[in-house]
Formats: sequence, C-alpha cells, structure tokens
Amino acid sequence: MIKHHPGDALLLAQAAGTLGAGHSLLVASHVEGCTHCQERLRLLEAIGGAMLEELPPGVLPSRSLADTLAAIDAPPPPLRPAPVVHRPQLPSGMAWPRALRGCNATEWRWFAPGMYRSRVSLPQDPDANVFLLRMAAGKQSSMHTHSGSELTQVLWGAFHDGRALFTPGDFDEADDSFRHLPKVEPSGECICLASVEGRVVFESRLARVVGALIGM
Ligand SMILES: [Zn+2]
Repeated sequence: MIKHHPGDALLLAQAAGTLGAGHSLLVASHVEGCTHCQERLRLLEAIGGAMLEELPPGVLPSRSLADTLAAIDAPPPPLRPAPVVHRPQLPSGMAWPRALRGCNATEWRWFAPGMYRSRVSLPQDPDANVFLLRMAAGKQSSMHTHSGSELTQVLWGAFHDGRALFTPGDFDEADDSFRHLPKVEPSGECICLASVEGRVVFESRLARVVGALIGM
C-alpha cells in the first residue's frame, strides 16, 4: 500500500521532460509501481497536450520538411548488443526497478557501521548524483538538510523520518526546508534509491567529513 507519492509539481516536470536525469529516474522508478501516479501522470500529459494545441502555429525553418523526409528514408541503425550491466547483489526476493534499465551500479561500499552505498551511473547523464543506500535494521543516518533537493524511493524494508513511516513503493521528497533523521525500522534492513541535486548538508562534523569522502 503506497502512501507517499511525488507531488504534482514533480509529476508535471516529469511529463514536460524538464527534470534532470537523476530526478527523472527516481520519479520513473516510483511511477512504474504506482497506479495512482500513472493515472495522475496521464492526466497531466493530456493537459499538457491540450495546451500545446491551443498555441498559435509557428513557422518551421525551410529545411525541416526535407530533413524529416530524409530521416524517414534513412536505413534503420544497426542493432547493437545490449550493454553488459553490472549491479550489486540484492536480498533474495527483491527486484530492480525497470527504470534502472541500462544503468550500472558499483558493488556495495561500506561508509559507516551497518551502512553501504552503491553509486548508480546513468548512461544519459554520467554526472547525475544517483545512488543506492543499504542500511541495517535500526540504523539512523545523520541529521541533515539539503542545499538542493533529494528524492528517495523505498525499494526494500522501511524507515521512519521523524514525520512518517516509509515502506516499499513510497517516495520521499526533501529540500532545505526540512531537517531529517531517517531511521530504519527494527524489523529488517532497508534499501533505497536516491537522487540528490545540490549537496546533502550534515549537521555533525564527522558526518560532514564522511559525506564529503563518499561524494554526498
Ligand atoms: Zn504514487
């Protein structure tokens, strides 16, 4: 039962194609498993399409028609073999989101007791700051805020961020207006996919040093 969804501003930006690659991947990983957001996104896309039809027609550059016809006549590009993708091991029973298709991820790297991180590389944007976090039962991340925004999709297990409980399928959106202290539920480990734009700002000096070392 999904309780936390991306807000309309994020879904609208997803529909309009204006999100950065990392944030777009996070929204897609939520929407693929959420019928509520699939319907919402379809509605927003329909509204966007209707607004486009209301716009006055523009004049195309003279080459446009010739270029389009040439593109239609061109032979299809040769099929390339699917790239080999590397991913870290998951708990048995957990599946990768389809949105991560074609993305590599590093092995789990220890960064604090009971906490591991895997960096995800997006072929469409190598600079996108997307990673997987794997935290043991009862673990708490350091109190932090954000200089930009952080999106989190729960893939496995559950955490409580001081406001609400987040379980698999739930989506969390944090920015500099909120200081949060996510804590994994005692029942088992938690794995999340996250995208950060800007920096995560830790309050403790030690956490700041560790954060800087692992590029958060
Ligand atoms: Zn949703």
